[in-house]
This record gives sequence, C-alpha cells and structure tokens, in this order.
Amino acid sequence: MTRILLLGGTTEASQLAKTLAETGADAVFSYAGRTANPVSQPLPTRVGGFGGADGLAAYLKSENITHVVDATHPFAAQMSTNAVHACEAAGVKLCALERPAWQAGEGDTWVHAGTIDEAVNALPDAAARVFLAIGKQNLTQFAVKPQHHYLLRLVDAPETNLPLPHTTVEIARGPFDAAGDTALMQRHGITDVVAKNSGGAGAAAKLTAARTLGLPVIMIGRPQVPKRPILSSVAEVMAWLSHPSA
Ligand code: NAP
Repeated sequence: MTRILLLGGTTEASQLAKTLAETGADAVFSYAGRTANPVSQPLPTRVGGFGGADGLAAYLKSENITHVVDATHPFAAQMSTNAVHACEAAGVKLCALERPAWQAGEGDTWVHAGTIDEAVNALPDAAARVFLAIGKQNLTQFAVKPQHHYLLRLVDAPETNLPLPHTTVEIARGPFDAAGDTALMQRHGITDVVAKNSGGAGAAAKLTAARTLGLPVIMIGRPQVPKRPILSSVAEVMAWLSHPSA
C-alpha cells in the first residue's frame, strides 16, 4: 500500500496536495510551521519539525510511509538534506518536486551571489534603496550594511525588532504580478533588488519589474542538497508514485 508524506511549503506542494486528494491517495501534508496562517490543505496535515533526520526516519516508520515527496522551497536545504538521509535509513522512496531555477534573459542585469554573504558584499557602499526580496530569514546578515533603506515583503508582520535600521515592511502573500511589482518598486524608489533563485512564475514578477525599470538584481544561487530524483511537475510526481518500480 502506498502512503505518502508530502513536505510542503510551496505553491507546487499545494497543487500536488489537490491532485492527491482528488485521486483519493493516502497522504499526509507537512508544514514547518513558519507562517501564522498557512494555506489550508485538502489532506490530513501535520505542523512542525520532525527532530532532524533521525526524527524523520522514526516518523516514516511509525506512520508506515512508503513515499516522500519533498516539495519544500529550494532554499529549505536542511529539510531536503534530512529527507535524503531519513529515506535512505528507513528504506522509503524519495523524490523532489522542484521548479527550475530562473535564468537571466535579454535586458536583465544580474549579479550572481553564491551565498547570502556574497549578496551582502555585492550591494553598493553608497546608500541605496534595496528591495530585499528574500523572506524573513537571513535579514541579520544585511545588518553590516545599515546605510541602505530596505523594502521587505513578508507573509506575516515581524514579531521582533528587525535587525536593519531603515526598513519598510510590505505584508503580502504571492503569487505576484509584474505590473504590481513594478508599481511597488516605483513607489518605494527602489534602486537595487536582492532575490533568491527560487524559480516559479509568481515570484518572478519582481524580476520582470526590475528589467522594466532597468534595475540590477543580485541573484542568490540555490544551496547544495544531496542527490535525489528531481521532478518538475505534478504529473511527473503522479507518474512516479504509480510506477510499480518506484
Ligand atoms: P530548512 O532550514 O531546510 O529547515 C529547518 C527545519 O525546519 C528542518 O530541519 C525541519 O525541522 C523543519 N522543516 C522545514 N520544512 C519542513 C516541513 N515541510 N515539514 C516539517 N518540518 C519542516 O527550511 P526553512 O528554510 O526554515 O524553510 C521552512 C519552510 O518554509 C519550508 O517548508 C519551506 O518550503 C518554506 N519556505 C522556505 C523559504 C526559504 O527561503 N528558505 C522560502 C519560502 C518558503 P526538523 O529538523 O526538526 O525536522
């Protein structure tokens, strides 16, 4: 019997959850619990960490999970690494549902950064107005450049003081569109954009807007995760789940 653990957090995870529910699959959806009001899912849902790779392996065994689909964000490298090790230990099949990384196109001015710290270094020294579109994690690393004004777009209002002295916080949940993001950047006089290379259409709006406005983008590359099969659509995951040798 197939029993699936779907590690969520992305739009693609929600799309897969819908398809699994429609097909009557036996599946559990898992959230890290980072946002106050996560999108509700049409599957039984659990929230919170498992306790590292060992905790996840124990969960997989106690819940009789046969297949794990890792549809976490491409920057959730700890969870993805844990999933590789736990599935190996528990003898459970694993695949990742991951959107392709964005590529720079005609009219884009991208500076590539391998890490968050490289992105910080790539920012100018003179005071700038930066759209820091990286979510709420890793903001502290930008505190070494306090001269900039940072526009942050977050899902929930921050609960603690921000580590940056000059900020504007925009509370919003994607997907976003290019016209809206262009207007947002114009309204805030943005001069530089910092983004994680998440991929996907909804989050790409800021890149289209940056191109339209002729703004440079510091693009942070994806962290390394141990090798696992990577599928890029819900249909591919459904085929993987139903394949007898999967
Ligand atoms: P992370 O650094 O890879 O994960 C840290 C820990 O959070 C994991 O070791 C695990 O705790 C727990 N965790 C993460 N995802 C989980 C899930 N789906 N279900 C249960 N526990 C989970 O991940 P993160 O960067 O904090 O991201 C957390 C969540 O936010 C993910 O679901 C991700 O898809 C989403 N997200 C992340 C980003 C980003 O830029 N990182 C952006 C948008 C959304 P234990 O070790 O205790 O199991």
